[in-house]
Amino acid sequence: MSEPETATPEETGLFDKIVNLTKRRGFVFPSAEIYGGFRSTYDYGPVGVLMLRNVKNSWWRSMVQMRTDVVGIDAAILSPPQVWEASGHLANFTDPLVDCRACGARHRIDKLDDPDTCPTCGKSGQFTEPRQFNLMFKTHAGPVENDGAVAYLRPETAQGMFTNFANVLNTSRKRPPFGIAQVGKSFRNEITPQNFVFRTREFEQMELEFFVPPDEAEKWYQYWCAERLQWYIDHGIPADQLRLRAHDADELSHYSSGTSDVEYLFPWGWDELEGIANRGDYDLTQHATHSGEKLDYFDPATNERYTPHVVEPAAGATRTMMAFLMAAYHEEEVRGETRTVLRLHHRIAPYQIAVLPLSKKDTLIPPAQQVLSALQPHFMCDYDETQAIGRRYRRQDELGTPYCVTIDFDSLDDNAVTVRDRDSMDQERVPIADLLDWFRERLV
Ligand code: ATP
Repeated sequence: MSEPETATPEETGLFDKIVNLTKRRGFVFPSAEIYGGFRSTYDYGPVGVLMLRNVKNSWWRSMVQMRTDVVGIDAAILSPPQVWEASGHLANFTDPLVDCRACGARHRIDKLDDPDTCPTCGKSGQFTEPRQFNLMFKTHAGPVENDGAVAYLRPETAQGMFTNFANVLNTSRKRPPFGIAQVGKSFRNEITPQNFVFRTREFEQMELEFFVPPDEAEKWYQYWCAERLQWYIDHGIPADQLRLRAHDADELSHYSSGTSDVEYLFPWGWDELEGIANRGDYDLTQHATHSGEKLDYFDPATNERYTPHVVEPAAGATRTMMAFLMAAYHEEEVRGETRTVLRLHHRIAPYQIAVLPLSKKDTLIPPAQQVLSALQPHFMCDYDETQAIGRRYRRQDELGTPYCVTIDFDSLDDNAVTVRDRDSMDQERVPIADLLDWFRERLV
């Protein structure tokens, strides 16, 4: 991962604005806030749950729904030590931890700008020798807390795809090259969670394990690097805020012949959204050795048996949501006032449409409800009849809603509504009878 660069005050401003907006509008709340919050954990509110779901669904749409060579699974979060013994996590999934002798603070030394100075108290030369700290959350399954009951919360979703390789091969009719995809929670006991939802102890991942004939691994690695970079661009992040960074030889794990990160230009500098790794046959071979099960593929076309190689694009859903929010955030002057608007891609925005009766007058509510009922089965809609219409538009701008539909008194005569575009603020009169098709053309 690249080292964070120092943020300018202007950039720090963006970070604070995002944290503030997401709290104010119901995207993200500090977890257990009424008890003072809990150690960098976050809850996703009424709007955030929609957006996070859209991030995950958009990934699933591109990686599973729109392909014939990828299937999905949803594996258990709890797993036995054997899995993590085989994967190497028990021995190697560690970060270097130091204690400050002066103030007692603990830091991950490889992430410090100055590895000699404590960022908590500012004192130099007070760190203990680094020791390796395992990031996995350990617990016990069942009522007896002995060694036989030890279980781990998964620190990545990937192992579920490896342990189910033979099950999927035997049931799905897929043959290499093919992939297994999974979206779900992962847990890492990070030494220093930081930067809001960028690094947390509980987070969500979107991972694909793509199994290929060994001589095709390099080709597929290049393919997935290009494909994954393009996915972020297609979903609204400007290309000049993204880059693909190949790891140097000394950053690679011993089994990887190539790893590249998709990085986003966060307010603190370039940082990782996703890693794409060419993992060779390491994972399947490890699990085959440790479990005693055959995890290979017999190719009837060539009469050859081989262990597929794996190309792994591994992304963070919660971290990606943060990048989408940052890239979408804009402030602009409109008639002497500052308008804050999230220019989110329509597939990522929490709501696609807001239905707004111009006033709470009785006559406008039934037609507004009718419009809502016609649109709701097809799109995620918000409905709001409070406050003046200008303030409701501003609220929807801050939620990133691409279109507002306003039902006014003319609607009672002409059976048409005003549709307002979030980005241009242009307004167009659309007959209610045409509304569904009008939106289908723009939002599907
Ligand atoms: P980092 O170097 O940032 O700790 P990593 O290289 O260990 O991340 P991977 O194991 O490759 O991360 O995980 C794949 C993706 O999962 C990351 O690119 C990131 O988007 C996400 N991710 C990993 N750890 C966290 C975390 N603690 N909080 C939120 N997202 C995470």
